[in-house]
Amino acid sequence: MKSDKENILESSVQYIKSVGPKRAESFSKIGINTIRDLIFYFPSRHLDRTTVLTAAKAYGYAMNGYDGEATIIAKVVDKEKRNLGRKEILKVQFRDSSGFIECVWFQGVKYFHSVFNEGDYFAISGKPEINYNKLQIVHPDFDKITEEETQSFLNTGKIIPFYRIPKELKQKNIGDLSLRRIINTAVESYVDNLEETLPQEIIAQHKLIDLITAVKNYHYPQSKELFEQAKRRFKFEEMFYLELLVAIKKNNYQTKLIGNKMEIKTNLVSVFIKTLPFELTHSQLNVLSEIKKDMLSEKPMNRLLQGDVGSGKTIVALISMLIAIDNGFQAALMAPTEILADQHAKNISAMMSKLALSHKGKEIKVSLLLGGQKKSVRNQKLSDIELQEADIIIGTHAIFEEQVKFNNLGLIVIDEQHRFGVKQRALLQSKGTTPDVLVMSATPIPRTLSMTIYGDLDFSVINEMPKNRIPIKTVLRGEKKLPEIYNFIIDKAKEGYQTFLVYPLVEDSEKLDLKAAITFYEDLKENHLKNLKLGLIHGRMSWQEKEEVMLMFKDKLFDVLVSTTVIEVGIDIPDANIILINDAHRFGLSQLHQLRGRVGRSNKQAYCILITKDEIAAKQNANELELDYLSSVQLEKYKSSVRLQSMVKYLDGFKIAEIDLKLRGPGDIFGTKQSGFPELKYTNIIEDTELILEAKQSAFKLIENDPKLENNFSALIRKNLIKHYSENLSYAKIA
Ligand code: ADP
Ligand code: MG
Repeated sequence: MKSDKENILESSVQYIKSVGPKRAESFSKIGINTIRDLIFYFPSRHLDRTTVLTAAKAYGYAMNGYDGEATIIAKVVDKEKRNLGRKEILKVQFRDSSGFIECVWFQGVKYFHSVFNEGDYFAISGKPEINYNKLQIVHPDFDKITEEETQSFLNTGKIIPFYRIPKELKQKNIGDLSLRRIINTAVESYVDNLEETLPQEIIAQHKLIDLITAVKNYHYPQSKELFEQAKRRFKFEEMFYLELLVAIKKNNYQTKLIGNKMEIKTNLVSVFIKTLPFELTHSQLNVLSEIKKDMLSEKPMNRLLQGDVGSGKTIVALISMLIAIDNGFQAALMAPTEILADQHAKNISAMMSKLALSHKGKEIKVSLLLGGQKKSVRNQKLSDIELQEADIIIGTHAIFEEQVKFNNLGLIVIDEQHRFGVKQRALLQSKGTTPDVLVMSATPIPRTLSMTIYGDLDFSVINEMPKNRIPIKTVLRGEKKLPEIYNFIIDKAKEGYQTFLVYPLVEDSEKLDLKAAITFYEDLKENHLKNLKLGLIHGRMSWQEKEEVMLMFKDKLFDVLVSTTVIEVGIDIPDANIILINDAHRFGLSQLHQLRGRVGRSNKQAYCILITKDEIAAKQNANELELDYLSSVQLEKYKSSVRLQSMVKYLDGFKIAEIDLKLRGPGDIFGTKQSGFPELKYTNIIEDTELILEAKQSAFKLIENDPKLENNFSALIRKNLIKHYSENLSYAKIA
């Protein structure tokens, strides 16, 4: 039961002074319906004394070549529209107690002319420059503030919040001042109605501030420290509830379900390992022993295997499958694309025939199940699976369709896990009587992120590459260099090198993509690469056609394979040792890393050549763009350059993933949407590592002691989980 005090918070924002029904509609468009929503609409930044300069100081800095941003609080004293050639420009003069500053607009002159009126105060931010001896900022950011706010800010150092103003509000004439006033009214009048959402014990234990103090100080911090405390409290709370969900999920899985307790029955596995043409790396062996321990125990395995592209995950998966088969079970391997499933099936079948020769009496049968197979073929396969004529079943998600009935499924391996969502994982676990599950991912996820999103899984990491590998050489070149690069490819072809030549998808349209790839292919065949054998592969082909081309490439019928990104995932062609990526600036960082992972799989020197139109990147001043020192504004501007230069600089997938995350920002973490977790509002998954761990430990301990949240202590938590996370709770249950 909610108290009356709490209920008031659920009333419409229209009852707040100067809102009313019309403006309430606009608020509603940006997701603010209730007074509570308004109270939790926090500022995107604050104006505080340490970030403000006087005009005189800014002038001094600019004279000395200062390259950063500055904020100045000043009053409008004059404005003027001027013609510059055919264009109109706007100049607004401001002054503060120390001097003058001029702001200039080349665009939106009419609009900005209406914004700045004599006598109004603004906080203006931007890069100060000196122009004809005058201090100037071109196209500054600005926030309007009242004279009163200006005074109290300058005199008492009161911190002023600035709120993001979406266009829906601007259209209803809600600007900086009015939004600040509206939110301030709501906070002042109703903040005390909030009920605490964390148990006192947790608050005390983790030295958090209480909810009401936190809300107040998030809007109008009494001090910088209290503002930091407020943020910390919300981050903790956010992660605490998230981790509770994870803990519940993990607990359900481990306690409710009893898995298969397997054994090492025969020498199947050890014989198989002897048939391999290479030694397993230490890392592969370690990971295998972790997997084996899970499989031999009664608890169902639920493990994530991470390992960079080319680190040899497939063989680990296969050995795990053999353990299941040794115990009379079937094993399933799910791949994200048909072509990859097909490749796995071919490789694994070949290894299994070799094994049959050395291990008489045990023939292990592999079945490939794909969409679009002939009905008779499919029916045969379905019956093989049901009668356990097939031991290893490989396919795309098609293997988890309803008609597919396993006789005795003991292990599920999911390759390239990040391509599948939580729902699919849950669905597939319903296929056997609690089979063991091994999910594999080549997209190395920074540790905190994986712990957060996949916190219900146990982790294994392959952190070592097979010994024979030589680090791939990555270079970045402008398009002008292409003729030289083609010559390089031609020379290398004489040594037996094969090349992937990748073009980006054109505007996500398969049709255009096809046209582009074909055009390039025809052109190269007639011109630059006319003496080489060229193949073409693209997204419009059926998987059978793709397979045929890939096999021809593998058999060296082509020197060069022109392709769109269909080669991206998992494909393994040892003699392809050059990859040329056109318009590389248009690819995401993890995608580039995946693509690069297609080469360097043998003992020859491999090359990754990135071609770009991006001028900044092509300059190759890799060291000028030190990522750690870029402001968020610069980061935005140089994103594609940073991506490309990171590729040149780093080979390590974990490092790449970290940068990728930083570039994309915590709001856009891959996979969170499909993972079933809400988006994070407060926490920065990269920077808040320690707090995340603290929240996680606390949440896991709580669930360990009180799995069903039945204690008095947990009542508040239970209530909040149901109230705010009901949708996510359902995920926690099914998985
Ligand atoms: P990924 O981890 O990207 O899935 P794969 O499993 O496709 O990598 O392995 C990449 C290549 O390395 C394959 O050709 C595989 O046979 C080979 N490989 C795997 N383990 C080893 C090893 N320990 N030593 C040498 N080569 C290995
Ligand atoms: Mg793989």
